[in-house]
Amino acid sequence: MTTTSGNASQIRVAIIGSGPSGFYAADHLLKQREPEIYVDMYERLPTPFGLVRGGVAPDHAKIKSVTKLYSRIASHERFSFFGNVEFGVDVSRYDLSDHYHGIIYAVGAQTDRKLGIAGEDLPNSYAATEFVGWYNGHPDYHDYDFDLTGIKRVAVIGVGNVAMDVARILARTPQELYGTDIADYALEALRQSEVEEIYVLGRRGPAQAAFTNPEIKELGELADADIIVECEDASLDELSAAHLKKARDRSAIRNVKILQSYVDRGLTGKSRRIIMRFLVSPSEIIGGDRVEAMRVVKNELYLDENGNLRPRATDQFEVFPVDMIFRSVGYRGVPLRDVPFYDRWGTIPNERGRVLTKHEGKKRLPGNYVVGWIKRGPSGIIGTNKPDAIESANCFLEDLALGDALQPRDTRDESVLALVQSREPTFISFDEWKILDEIELQRGADRGRSRVKFTTVEEMLEALGKMKALAGAGK
Ligand code: NAP
Repeated sequence: MTTTSGNASQIRVAIIGSGPSGFYAADHLLKQREPEIYVDMYERLPTPFGLVRGGVAPDHAKIKSVTKLYSRIASHERFSFFGNVEFGVDVSRYDLSDHYHGIIYAVGAQTDRKLGIAGEDLPNSYAATEFVGWYNGHPDYHDYDFDLTGIKRVAVIGVGNVAMDVARILARTPQELYGTDIADYALEALRQSEVEEIYVLGRRGPAQAAFTNPEIKELGELADADIIVECEDASLDELSAAHLKKARDRSAIRNVKILQSYVDRGLTGKSRRIIMRFLVSPSEIIGGDRVEAMRVVKNELYLDENGNLRPRATDQFEVFPVDMIFRSVGYRGVPLRDVPFYDRWGTIPNERGRVLTKHEGKKRLPGNYVVGWIKRGPSGIIGTNKPDAIESANCFLEDLALGDALQPRDTRDESVLALVQSREPTFISFDEWKILDEIELQRGADRGRSRVKFTTVEEMLEALGKMKALAGAGK
C-alpha cells in the first residue's frame, strides 16, 4: 500500500482472490490513465497466485512462470495485497462497499464435482482436486495422508487435463519429481508408492477427450511408465468420425492421432503402466472398509438434440480391481457470503461479468463484478482468463463513467488499512509474500530443488515473525 494518504474520493476497487483472473483484472484497471484506479487484492491464504501455485502440476514449471508477470503487476504503486484475509469471514461485502467503488470476485472454483454413484465416499476414493492440492502443498490439504504403500492399481475418472496431471504425477519417478516444487511430504509419499497400474477412464470416446495435445503426448514420454491404449479404445465410431470431419477440430484430431500412435507401442519393460480406456463410466465403487474394485458400464455415443455426442450406458459391465480412485470430473464453485450464487452451475450469476441478483434475472447487484471460473465455470487455460477479466473490468469502467458504481464512504488508504488491521492483524502484504518466496526458493536451492514450499499458514506466519500477533488476536 502506498504511504501517501490519498484523498477521500480516489477510485478504489477490491479484487477478491489472487489467481490469474484477479491479476488480469487488476492489470487492466491499473493501466487506465483516467481515472487512476487503486486496486486492493484480498486473498484467503497468505500466498498469492491461486491455482498457479496450488493447482498447476509441479512438473509444469514453465506454466508456473506466469507468476513473474503477476508479480510485476503487484509492484504497481497503486496495487496492494491483503493476504490471509478471508472475504465473508474477516471482511464482508458490506464492509467493502464502504471503501470501494467496485468489488470483483475472482475466487475460482474451490471444490469438486461428484460422480453420484454408490461407494463414492469409501476410504481411498478421492477427488482429484484433493490430491492436487495435497501434492502442491496447499494449506487446506496439508493434513491429507495419501499413503501409496500397498496401492497397486489406481483409477482416474475423467479425461481432462487434471486427470492427465494426476496420472502423470502418480507415474513419475522420484528422480523426475525431485527438482520440482512438489510438497516435501508428497515427494516422500510418492517415493514409497507401490502403484503399478493407473487406469484413466473416459466416459465418451477418444475424439471427445478434454485433455490437450501436449498433455496426452507427455503421458507417452515418462521415464518409467508405459502407456497402453488398445486398438478398440483408439478407434472412432461412425458418429465421432463424421463429427470430427465436419467440425475440423484440430486439437481433437491430433489427440486421436497421438492415442493411435500408442496402440502399436506395446510394453517396453517400464515399471508402471498407464492404461487409457474410453467409452466407460463407473457405475459403482465396491469395497468394505476401503475401495477394492470398480464396476464400470460400457457406453455408446448418441447425438443429442443440440448436436452434441453424449454417452449412453449399454448393458455390458466390467469389474476392475482397484485400490484407489480419483474422480477428476471437474471443479465447482462455492458460494460466498452475501453474494448471489447459481447452484446448478456453481457460478455467480452475471451478465458479461456484472453480478446479477439471480440467474436469468435482469436485476444487477451494482458495483459487483465477477471474473474467471466463478464467472464462466471451470474451463480454459490460464490465458483464457485475460479477455474474460478485461470484459468484466470494462463493465466496471463503463458503469463508473455513468455514475453507476458503489458509493463508498471513504476510499483513503488509511481507512482501508484500518479496516484490514482491525479484522486481521496478521494480514500479509505483497512485500511479506516476497520474503516467504525468497525463503522457499533458498530452501529449494539448498537441496537442489526449485523450491521447498511452506505448506501451513502457521509456518508462514512464523517465518514472518507474525505468530505473536496471531496469538494476540486470539485466533
Ligand atoms: P475438464 O477439462 O472439464 O474435464 C473433465 C472431464 O471429466 C471430462 O473428460 C468429462 O467428460 C469428465 N466427466 C465429467 N463428468 C463425468 C462423469 N459423471 N463421469 C465420467 N466422466 C465425467 O476439467 P478438468 O480436467 O478439471 O480441468 C479444468 C480446466 O483446467 C480445463 O479447462 C483444463 O484444460 C484446465 N487445466 C489445464 C491444464 C494445463 O493446461 N496443463 C492443467 C490442468 C487443468 P465429458 O467431456 O464427457 O463431460
